[in-house]
Amino acid sequence: MYICSICNCFLAYKQDEIYKYPLREGEQLNFLTFKMIENCKEDQFKKYDLFSHLYCKFCDQEIGMRIGKDFSIYKCQLQESLGSINIGVYSLKQELLQKISQMLDKTCYQCYLQPLLKKELTNVQIIPNVNAAIIIHQVESRVLLLGKNGLYNDLAQKLWKQTSGNVLLILYDKEETNQEELVHNLATQGEQPQIAELFQSQNLVFFTKLLNLNSILQKYFAKSYNQCYPIDIVKKEEDVTNEKCLLLTYYYQRYKQIDHPTQDDKLTLSLIKQSRKQLKFECKVQ
Ligand SMILES: [Zn+2]
Repeated sequence: MYICSICNCFLAYKQDEIYKYPLREGEQLNFLTFKMIENCKEDQFKKYDLFSHLYCKFCDQEIGMRIGKDFSIYKCQLQESLGSINIGVYSLKQELLQKISQMLDKTCYQCYLQPLLKKELTNVQIIPNVNAAIIIHQVESRVLLLGKNGLYNDLAQKLWKQTSGNVLLILYDKEETNQEELVHNLATQGEQPQIAELFQSQNLVFFTKLLNLNSILQKYFAKSYNQCYPIDIVKKEEDVTNEKCLLLTYYYQRYKQIDHPTQDDKLTLSLIKQSRKQLKFECKVQ
């Protein structure tokens, strides 16, 4: 995964990278392009929804541009993080564990599975050396999950301590449920207000299919990453004028080469031109 080179916050996954062919053979591009990016803000150009400048949400540093659907980030503002997130996954259902592990295969997450037995829930040996944990529970008749008499009370407490709160509780239900209502019912039944708190802090999510698992986990772990590695912001403003120039030139050439441009392509090209003019003007003033 990639993190901000100034504040170390999580920005993008390696698997979301789109490879861009340079204009000339052997040429090195000064940016990397992604399908999506986390923890970033866009500026006012957004009114056209085709072009905007991107800023890191945590340190405010300008990190790149969005042109069309491309999120292009200057290489000097990115850093590849080699530290992996190790996740302990717990469930009473063996097949849910298998599914999660398949889905997290080939991602930057290392996943360790722990099948649970109902009769041993008060004394679970937790997986050592992890920085996040998932408990996945299939919603059936029993609804006491946390709190004094909750199924996962001991486990959740241990995991909470172990991971400094990076615990995700997944309630898996084959039927579509009214989430707010279920949370309210769970929270008020059997003294388990923790359920409502977890829901609010996004440490509790619902799944009806395991298909959408990936996108939810990505958001969750992006958040976890920031908690695992607390942000220490050193104000270090990078001058990105040169990076901006190179990026705009690249896209200007690319859009000019389109044979049958759509209305959107034409508008994007004009926004790129406008931004280049502005940049040249700023450089002259300095
Ligand atoms: Zn940053």
